[in-house]
Amino acid sequence: MFARERIKAKDLADVRAMRPAGLLVAQCLAALHAAAVPGRTTGELDDLAEAFIRERGGRPSFAEVPGYRHTLCTSVNEQIVHGIPGDRVLERGDLLSIDCGAIIDGWHGDAAISLIVGGREIGEPADVELMDATLDSLWAGIGALEVGRGLYEVGAAIEASIEESGAQDGRTYGIVEDYVGHGIGREMHMEPNVPNYRVKGKGPTVKNATTVAIEPMVTLGDQANEVLADEWTVVTLDRARACHWEHTVAAHSGGLWVLTALDGGASRLGPKFAPLGD
Ligand code: MG
Ligand code: MG
Repeated sequence: MFARERIKAKDLADVRAMRPAGLLVAQCLAALHAAAVPGRTTGELDDLAEAFIRERGGRPSFAEVPGYRHTLCTSVNEQIVHGIPGDRVLERGDLLSIDCGAIIDGWHGDAAISLIVGGREIGEPADVELMDATLDSLWAGIGALEVGRGLYEVGAAIEASIEESGAQDGRTYGIVEDYVGHGIGREMHMEPNVPNYRVKGKGPTVKNATTVAIEPMVTLGDQANEVLADEWTVVTLDRARACHWEHTVAAHSGGLWVLTALDGGASRLGPKFAPLGD
């Protein structure tokens, strides 16, 4: 389906240059995680994120997408992605996904977290399991990114991880197929597409200094979805809850560096962790 795509070559200096934007997104999402308490509105989170990014020399990238003016996408419960921040008041037990992008020196970072408003200990068990399954699948996908291998191994690893979690949790999770990860660098959305599920073929071969955003979207019910009348918000058709996690990741011949993780991926990557120094 994406057979003609190629991965554009970057060099290691470009990857290093992307870390400040990635780190800023990571720090912003950490601040938002703490701020996403019951009673707060998604619009307030958006204001906080914009100030956080601008005060640290960055620029919110989503606001530069034609037709969109916010810093975040805030997707609550049955909303999968692209929820628009506004007057919605967060309630205890909401499953909230926050997607954030920033630009520093022309380089982009893009990442998303999910959380239970009020804390995971008060979440519905199914929501917490969905959240953990989605996050585990993200790291499985990241771990399958390797120079010299086909890019579509990422989606295969995500799907295998979701199947394994589903077997453990006693349910069949859905993986959203209508939205995919992407190349990232001087622009937020670049070739190649990065499916979060198994597709035919190997996909483009991962080159040294490849940077992609990997972002599984997983549902408690069926993966079928629709866009609301606001023309942005993507919701599950069956209105079952959905979850989304994302990281911007660099693959090079020495290993992996998760540009939007505070620790660069050290705690999850094991021997594949390979940050690039100066
Ligand atoms: Mg994103
Ligand atoms: Mg993205």
